[in-house]
Amino acid sequence: MAEKRIAQAVKQQIVSVLHSGSSQNERPYLRKHNESSIADLFIVGDLAGAPVIKYAMAQGYEVIEHIAGLPGAIGGADPDLFDVMIIGAGAAGLNAALQANERGMRYLLLEKEQIANTIENFPEGKWVYAEPDSQPPKGKLWLDGASKEELTRRWHQIIRDNQLNIRTMEGVTGCEKKDGVFHLRTTKGQYRSKRVILATGQRGNPRKLNVKGEDQQRIYHRLYSPRKYKNKNILVVGGGNSAVEAAVTLSEQNHVILSYRGSEFSRLFKDNERKLNEAIARGKIEPVLNSTISEFGAQDAVLKISSHSRAESRKARYDHAFVLIGADVPREFLKSLGLRMENEWEGSLLRASALTLLGFLGLWLFGGRADLALLSSVPGWLGLALAFVGLAGLVHFGRKGDRFSWLGLSFFIWYTVYGVKVGKGEEFWPYRDWGYKLLSFFDRPWSFWYTVLYTALMTVFGLQALKRWGLDRKDKFQIWRYVSLISFQWIFFFLVPEFLFQYAVKYQWVGASLASDPTFADQAWRSYGIIYAWPLFFYTFFYNPHQIWVVWGVLLTFVIIPIFVLFHGKRYCSWVCGCGGLAETFGDRWRHLAPKGKASIRWEWMNSAVLIFAGVVTVLVLAKDTYLAITGTADLGIRIYRLSADLWLVGILPVTLYPFLGGKIWCRYWCPLAKLMQLQSHWFTKLRWSRFKIVANDKCIGCYECSRNCQVGIDVMNFALKQDTLDNANSSCIGCGICVTVCPMDTLSFESVSESAAPSKLVNITLEPAS
Ligand SMILES: Cc1cc2nc3c(=O)[nH]c(=O)nc-3n(C[C@H](O)[C@H](O)[C@H](O)COP(=O)(O)OP(=O)(O)OC[C@H]3O[C@@H](n4cnc5c(N)ncnc54)[C@H](O)[C@@H]3O)c2cc1C
Ligand code: SF4
Ligand code: SF4
Repeated sequence: MAEKRIAQAVKQQIVSVLHSGSSQNERPYLRKHNESSIADLFIVGDLAGAPVIKYAMAQGYEVIEHIAGLPGAIGGADPDLFDVMIIGAGAAGLNAALQANERGMRYLLLEKEQIANTIENFPEGKWVYAEPDSQPPKGKLWLDGASKEELTRRWHQIIRDNQLNIRTMEGVTGCEKKDGVFHLRTTKGQYRSKRVILATGQRGNPRKLNVKGEDQQRIYHRLYSPRKYKNKNILVVGGGNSAVEAAVTLSEQNHVILSYRGSEFSRLFKDNERKLNEAIARGKIEPVLNSTISEFGAQDAVLKISSHSRAESRKARYDHAFVLIGADVPREFLKSLGLRMENEWEGSLLRASALTLLGFLGLWLFGGRADLALLSSVPGWLGLALAFVGLAGLVHFGRKGDRFSWLGLSFFIWYTVYGVKVGKGEEFWPYRDWGYKLLSFFDRPWSFWYTVLYTALMTVFGLQALKRWGLDRKDKFQIWRYVSLISFQWIFFFLVPEFLFQYAVKYQWVGASLASDPTFADQAWRSYGIIYAWPLFFYTFFYNPHQIWVVWGVLLTFVIIPIFVLFHGKRYCSWVCGCGGLAETFGDRWRHLAPKGKASIRWEWMNSAVLIFAGVVTVLVLAKDTYLAITGTADLGIRIYRLSADLWLVGILPVTLYPFLGGKIWCRYWCPLAKLMQLQSHWFTKLRWSRFKIVANDKCIGCYECSRNCQVGIDVMNFALKQDTLDNANSSCIGCGICVTVCPMDTLSFESVSESAAPSKLVNITLEPAS
């Protein structure tokens, strides 16, 4: 029993790390064309991560276009079978229905409340933006900057003009797929359909406190018409912009208590912060920080207040209470449909470990069985068969949704790649004495093919990322960034060390003297040091280098890099470096899984440890010629650094973790050069010399896209909401600019906000996921 509990606790710890990237923003798992884990069930709009109306509309339109192109998508003999049923009449669902109508499909749109319910629930007169400006709206639904009343009026007109097949006040309660047909249950009946589009958004699921008395009629989870309340005692719960805006508006004609669990209001627009402070100063709002509601009674709510030194409870009289603490993904509803969520860690860690080990054991029997006399008679084919069983098992369970199996397979691949690359005769178990030879094709060593593989991955996935972030979004910054990354890889980390250096020596391009000097000519590997500075290229000053490398190494590390950092922060990581390059290209599709939250930032201390270790070993190695007594310690230090940093931390572990924690685990947690640049950029910022920063205007709608896509786990949205400057004094930003690119409201920029930046037209209410 005790072992089981320990195993479970270990698994929980591992899962909490692996899941940290998605814990603040859970979404259903999606494949190409927005298809969910259930074939022919598509998810569009807010629920699929479209942060604004224009993107939601585009997804609705595109999914119908995709479905319409599938064989047998339109029509059929069965009159009761719909081609497609669309659930939810928001921007995404309505545009999908309009397109299905255009395509002559047999469709039905079901809406549990009213048409465009989310937008109808915005406060009176709220201005709805039609961002991003650069993209025209897709499909037949109208969209332009307008008040919510004008927008919904136009949508109703379009629905009438097109005679859309919609049923309102009919929510879908269940959906099951039997024999290739979906059977939908609603509050009013049952339907059958070939395909289903889920466009239910996330807003219909306001977060609740789940405390006693919360189901009373005078406790609301939305605020529709704040001005209808007069001379009342109002309790508002929450600390985000929605709650504060509600409190400020209600305080004009009422007495308001604002209860918030945090110790300060840290996620507010500047304007909201100012209004709140004014209302507090005038005695219109009474803030109660560090407080949670434990019960809503008949007349009073009970607030538990806890600060460092004490905990107390107090009663707050209220006529109406507004709990405005964000909205949750309708997880239960989605799970009841049988949908899989993104980054869901289901499956067996034990089974995945056993299958991975079986794969290695099989290969050991295949290649390394001579190690043990007892096993030398085992035929090689049996080993291969066992390895196949192990790997096939990982694929089998992985395809069934067991992410531990994919983790095992990923480890198997990258351990093999690096464990063999370590060198002939030095290969890791089970490849010792045979792996390097086996993988050294066409008279070229495995280390060469490894560089080819690396460059190929960066090129193929780099071009995909260039299309995704640069060409598709017409973003010149991202186009140049990916061109830069791919070019640096090709020129300085492939062509120069593998070919050009040798040609330069052979044809004496470097001059006869250098070309005939063995300390230069025989060490092509040192050409990695042209771009890789110490301590990333740890060996630049070791093993009897030619003077030219020492001078260049010092210049690069202590002059060129700091000047670059002064102007561009840590952009070396996202524009130049091959390690960062693989993360930005091959790792790009998993960037949203980067660990997030305060704990994940605390883990960044590991970078400092590696930097200190690299520094100590470097000093020992440089001093050992003078102080012979430390030779053994220096050699041991270098061996440990090589095994830990150069093999496990840069090679095996981070790439294994790409599909699970995004691409930046090495750069963020272990790279000593990244830490060195972080320290420099931090000092430059503190001294006000740095030219690197990201600023925000006042248009943030709290959609979380910037935070979600930051590979180094920075909560960019938090800075954007408060319009705070983001730099290297308050974050480990590497200047990739993805947050700027991905923001649908054009909120963020690398330049300073211009004086003339357009202010919000009306009240800004935000979507923040947590108060
Ligand atoms: C406060 C706030 C301000 C915003 N400001 C802007 C802005 O200025 N500009 C902008 O572009 N975007 C803005 N947004 C974002 C915008 O509202 C969303 O991007 C958009 O509404 C998403 O559309 P959707 O169709 O995916 O989902 P929704 O509009 O949420 O529509 C989902 C629909 O599904 C229905 N539904 C849910 N469950 C069921 C069920 N079981 N059965 C049947 N029907 C169901 C719901 O009732 C709802 O009508 C804002 C959002 C908020 C919350
Ligand atoms: S904050 Fe923005 S620019 Fe900086 S690393 Fe994150 S996504 Fe890139
Ligand atoms: S700054 Fe971030 S949270 Fe705000 S609108 Fe842009 S992407 Fe969304």
